[in-house]
Amino acid sequence: MGVGFGLNYQPEEIYDVIVIGAGPSGSTAAIYTARAGLKTLVLYRAEADGALGVTQKIENYPGVPGPLSGFDLLKIMREQAKSFGAQFVRGKVIATDFSEEVKKVFTIDGREFRGKAVIVASGAMERANKFKGEEEFLGRGVSYCGVCDAAFFKDQPVAVIGEDDYGIEEAEFIARFASKVYFVVPGSKIKAPPEIIEEFESLKNVEILLRHRVLEIVGDQLVKGLKLKDVANQEEKLLEVNGVFIFLGGTKPSVDFLMGQVDMTEGDCIVERGDDDLRPWSFRSWRCSLHQYKTGCDSRRGRL
Ligand SMILES: Cc1cc2nc3c(=O)[nH]c(=O)nc-3n(C[C@H](O)[C@H](O)[C@H](O)COP(=O)(O)OP(=O)(O)OC[C@H]3O[C@@H](n4cnc5c(N)ncnc54)[C@H](O)[C@@H]3O)c2cc1C
Repeated sequence: MGVGFGLNYQPEEIYDVIVIGAGPSGSTAAIYTARAGLKTLVLYRAEADGALGVTQKIENYPGVPGPLSGFDLLKIMREQAKSFGAQFVRGKVIATDFSEEVKKVFTIDGREFRGKAVIVASGAMERANKFKGEEEFLGRGVSYCGVCDAAFFKDQPVAVIGEDDYGIEEAEFIARFASKVYFVVPGSKIKAPPEIIEEFESLKNVEILLRHRVLEIVGDQLVKGLKLKDVANQEEKLLEVNGVFIFLGGTKPSVDFLMGQVDMTEGDCIVERGDDDLRPWSFRSWRCSLHQYKTGCDSRRGRL
């Protein structure tokens, strides 16, 4: 997983800029801020995550002759930002506190980062709908965090519902504890670089179930199983598992961690009213934002 910090990790550092997201927007922002001499931290969820990270083949990016994978293109962008001094740290942001001059950004594994300015570049890949049983069993077997909860399932079977590198990275960590990990993929393939998938497939206690639609998470007080439908033959099956970890993407802007501190539209796009109104410490990248006076927002993708 590459997360090497304890739950109470609190860096002393106060960054000039914290960028949330390491896709094209976040990396571009970091190139500019770091090059301008600002101490820049970029937080991201997984290596090959985000809309570009999951793209298999690019051959039309100016100046970069392809074909190459989205992940490889991302690596180039990130290296460019790092060359100017930007620091990239893996960590899913779950909360922010913008109430004081020094802003706080909290990650799901309990770390707190502090910065004078925050740039939101977290894209638009959040899920809008939940599975049957997901809310009922949240915290009672359903989890969204491997680092936080995997240890509770030592020597027990679990299901991990995922589709990309973000899901794989989490599942690899969970597989260090669980007796068996069923990696349930709703689609026909995993959207991650082949080398990452190969390494994942080689884990002895992992079984990958492609084309399996989730029907329901079942249990009594705690999770007891996951009902699935195998789309290939329409057969229903029940996986007997004690835990269900969910790492799926969608098309909603990924901005839950802003917690109402920034004006949002109903579709969860960040509203920018105009330069006069833009708070001096808060910037947004285009994918999860809406410029009120310019154009509309595609409610599915948060796109300008
Ligand atoms: C198959 C496909 C093909 C495409 N083809 C093209 C094309 O040809 N041309 C084109 O211009 N565009 C294309 N796009 C769209 C393009 O990939 C996106 O517009 C672009 O990636 C958006 O960049 P972004 O940085 O805003 O978001 P993303 O690339 O989605 O990056 C989001 C970043 O935020 C991070 N993140 C999200 N939530 C959190 C959190 N809570 N905490 C920490 N980090 C978080 C992620 O880890 C990721 O690093 C394509 C997209 C897809 C899926």
